[in-house]
Amino acid sequence: MQRRRFIRAWLAAWGLALGGCGAADTRAETGSRAGAAPAAWLPTVDAPADGARRVVVVGAGMAGLAAARELQAWGDTVVVIEARDRAGGRTWTSAAWPDLPLDLGASWIHGVDGNPMSDLAALAGARLVPIDLEANRVFSSFAGEIADATLAPWRERLESIISDAQDADDDASVHDVVAASLDWESLADTDRWTVLYLLNSMLEHEYAGSIERLSTYWYDDAGEYGGGDAFLAPGYGAIVDLLASELTIEYQQPVRQIRWDDAGVTVVSAGASWQADQVVITVPLGVLRAGSIEFVPALPASHRAAIAALEMGTLNKCYLRFAEVFWPTDADWLGYISPERGLWAEWVSLARVLGQPVLLGFNAADQGRDIERLSDGQIVASALDALGTMFDIDVPQPLAVQITRWASDPFAGGSYSYNPVGADPALRDALAAPVRDRLFIAGEATHREHHATTHGAYLSGMRAAQLARDAR
Ligand SMILES: Cc1cc2nc3c(=O)[nH]c(=O)nc-3n(C[C@H](O)[C@H](O)[C@H](O)COP(=O)(O)OP(=O)(O)OC[C@H]3O[C@@H](n4cnc5c(N)ncnc54)[C@H](O)[C@@H]3O)c2cc1C
Repeated sequence: MQRRRFIRAWLAAWGLALGGCGAADTRAETGSRAGAAPAAWLPTVDAPADGARRVVVVGAGMAGLAAARELQAWGDTVVVIEARDRAGGRTWTSAAWPDLPLDLGASWIHGVDGNPMSDLAALAGARLVPIDLEANRVFSSFAGEIADATLAPWRERLESIISDAQDADDDASVHDVVAASLDWESLADTDRWTVLYLLNSMLEHEYAGSIERLSTYWYDDAGEYGGGDAFLAPGYGAIVDLLASELTIEYQQPVRQIRWDDAGVTVVSAGASWQADQVVITVPLGVLRAGSIEFVPALPASHRAAIAALEMGTLNKCYLRFAEVFWPTDADWLGYISPERGLWAEWVSLARVLGQPVLLGFNAADQGRDIERLSDGQIVASALDALGTMFDIDVPQPLAVQITRWASDPFAGGSYSYNPVGADPALRDALAAPVRDRLFIAGEATHREHHATTHGAYLSGMRAAQLARDAR
């Protein structure tokens, strides 16, 4: 409740800035775009107003944009350094099909009530389309459609096993806990495939880590908003565009090194460097884990321990656009149980909600990572094969496809973070702790309550901005 009031106050203040003042930093009008030479930031900047500082924000995703807007609204001189040629990071609305903007990263606002993304969508004029999780049908490779009456007892049993294990003395992976209780070897093949389907669709798609890695204690340690899920008709890009407006963003500048001492910070890319009083670092956990940014001196041990212990999961998407709909249109979610664990286990149909003959297939966790090794043609063939089995038809070739590979994306290193066995959620607080009042780390992985979400990323950016300000 308190948070919602705070967000509303912040948006109101920011709305005024949008209305036309926004001019504390005249560089906002001269920010370079993709391919342009980086502006020489320090030499051209007037001294900031009293109490204001020069701040570099690394990364133009939801966290970086939030932090930059917040700091700029307070009068700081802010530049955002972004590796890609676009803003948004893991929110990415594709314009490949001009009549149908589609999100390749985040799609849903998870819980529309009190969620800052709902307020931002309203400010951006983006229509929200509710999605009905109950409108769901499940098919199999071995027995046609599977009734919920078959799935429900398994679901309840799994929930009970996991819930009991959350009270056990020691943490263990979800897989180990379930395997110990169910006695895998005694299960019929079809029951084992059904159990693995449920674990995949309930947990691996949600948290992106494999059940062999997910901590039974902590996998679901997160808060949530009510009101159901919705997606944005124009895509998340509407919010990204709104947030990125009036900011100075230097694109195509992958940061390689961040130097810091008592005098300030220097942020270095291949071809440029920026000096500032403080830096807000919002690169994904996957980038921090890959070590592609060198910190001089190294981050404190508590930060490095958090980076090592938390993990990045994978969720990949494949949009298939057909000439016409050939699948059931009374459900938004279509499940698939097969011996190939997790392969094309979840589909979303855009037929009912958008009136489009488009299917979105997902692969998560290990299957999500594995599928990235295939070519586009192999991925489509595999998807069509699954659809053919699900609906027992010859599936027509799609007119067009869009495929993601988030794990091998060097500026993401996965889709979002999760809590593996041994990763206490307090590690996220450790990662977010300010370093000597100079370095402030944000991003979804640093938000203990709402990690793995757009709103968690956004709130983490606002928190980092507040911490940077408090440190002066
Ligand atoms: C497929 C998928 C589906 C998802 N679905 C949902 C959903 O439905 N709802 C939801 O709430 N969330 C969802 N998420 C999660 C959500 O997208 C993220 O939690 C959120 O967008 C992360 O924002 P961020 O600012 O922390 O990181 P990012 O968006 O990753 O931003 C970090 C930025 O840093 C940049 N960067 C990286 N390395 C460097 C470098 N060396 N130098 C400079 N810049 C660098 C990146 O390019 C990026 O722009 C999904 C994510 C994926 C991938």
